[in-house]
Amino acid sequence: MGRAFVYVILGGGVAAGYAALEFVKKGVSHGELCIISDEPVAPYERPALSKGFLLPEAAARLPSFHTCVGANEERLTPKWYKEHGIELVLGTGVKSTDVKRKTLLTTTGETISYKILIVATGARALKLEEFGVSGSDAENVCYLRHIADANRLVDVMQSCPGGNAVVIGGGYIGMECAASLVINKINVTMVFPEEHCMARLFTSKIANYYEEYYKSRGVNFIKGTVLSSFDFDSNGKVTAVNLRDGTTLSVDMVVVGIGIRPNTGLFEGQLTLEKGGIKVNGMLQSSNSSVYAIGDVAAFPVKAFGETRRLEHVDSARKSAIHVVSSIMEPNKTGEFDYIPFFYSRVFTLSWQFYGDNVGEVVYYGDMSGSAFGAYWVSKGHLVGAFLEGGTKEEYEAIAKATRLRPAIEDLTELERQGLSFAVTVSQKPVVPPPVEVRASDLLLEKPLYAWHATAGVIIAASIAAFAYFYGKKRRRW
Ligand SMILES: Cc1cc2nc3c(=O)[nH]c(=O)nc-3n(C[C@H](O)[C@H](O)[C@H](O)COP(=O)(O)OP(=O)(O)OC[C@H]3O[C@@H](n4cnc5c(N)ncnc54)[C@H](O)[C@@H]3O)c2cc1C
Repeated sequence: MGRAFVYVILGGGVAAGYAALEFVKKGVSHGELCIISDEPVAPYERPALSKGFLLPEAAARLPSFHTCVGANEERLTPKWYKEHGIELVLGTGVKSTDVKRKTLLTTTGETISYKILIVATGARALKLEEFGVSGSDAENVCYLRHIADANRLVDVMQSCPGGNAVVIGGGYIGMECAASLVINKINVTMVFPEEHCMARLFTSKIANYYEEYYKSRGVNFIKGTVLSSFDFDSNGKVTAVNLRDGTTLSVDMVVVGIGIRPNTGLFEGQLTLEKGGIKVNGMLQSSNSSVYAIGDVAAFPVKAFGETRRLEHVDSARKSAIHVVSSIMEPNKTGEFDYIPFFYSRVFTLSWQFYGDNVGEVVYYGDMSGSAFGAYWVSKGHLVGAFLEGGTKEEYEAIAKATRLRPAIEDLTELERQGLSFAVTVSQKPVVPPPVEVRASDLLLEKPLYAWHATAGVIIAASIAAFAYFYGKKRRRW
């Protein structure tokens, strides 16, 4: 026995919150929509967990960052869901699904049926054990994906003021956590296998800017190696980190950010998967017409690049959520999802945004010894990506628009000379974006990991590959 709904959203993260708001804007009736989440709280802005949540003073706490405050929209508290007749089933996992019968079985034993299912299960943090290193369960080893992880991280930080932390991984989780640890007066060493931080998005020149800034704040970098084991005390607490290059670091705490894996397990064998996610079309509809997927778990066609990608950005989660509700409730008025990848981060007093794709030739602009600089990526004669540190709202909007318009670039030197003003000028002109050639192979074939374009959306997947490569090498030696 169980309940039945017209719409069920499986997962209660960023995408679920934005979809709920859109359902209400589009007039969903009371009792039609249900959200099921294994987290005990209503949807919230996940990026806050590595930023405001970790501040030593005036830290962000719920209910202040429930969705959809990150997009300057309404803050959806549990009361809001109640008032709008949306059933919020919290602290309840879904353990199996049957897309033919349109049912979900929850961990409480209830069968919930739907007419339309939106999968918004996001992703999980990869564990060290998946690379052959044990110790994830130690009380001073932290991951960061859910609010429970963030609470734990705060507790561990507060238990070792002035202590030593090792951050494993040089992606955005590692970088943002390292900055927060420093702000909490903890000494930080970052360890990662690549040559520089944010390896799949940043060029070495861009990465150097951030690494130098981090060093000026006391962060130590150990690159080109990986964790091989931990030493423990008699209580099972980690006391030292042993690296493959022979280095041993004494620690009071460890933060691990080595990548994520989309939560597709409930649908394997039932839906078509691609690039690690649930493959959907431009309406965000999966291979089963009653099932849609959004956010980190969805692999969707990025029209501007003419290929399917799975992105791990909060903006993509928000926009795909809004689009899926239109696809479902107003199919005749809704076109295909047309999204330009967008990724951002804020650490210390720094703040950057990236739009588009980081393929082709790189043209730098601005003053890398100052506080504002950027880069363009030019591929096949067109601007395809843009990065900016320290911009104003208008400047970020300009690089976003310029990337979307893909203007033709004939002279890279001239682009360098014009710098940011190129994007500002282009963004003010009505330019028609050139048609993009869609290669059938991109849509139909799953490429191996190493061949993926390294956009922000696949940074984490690619850094997993780097870890896997190093650990693979290690395993082969044993
Ligand atoms: C600490 C942190 C900082 C970040 N910072 C940035 C940033 O600065 N910029 C940026 O662009 N992106 C950032 N991101 C990425 C961004 O938060 C994600 O892209 C976004 O949260 C994806 O939204 P989602 O709804 O797809 O998944 P999620 O927000 O992860 O939500 C998925 C939800 O589904 C639940 N769930 C999964 N499986 C089940 C199940 N079987 N049953 C019930 N519930 C289930 C999960 O518990 C979770 O609540 C950050 C992510 C993290 C973790």
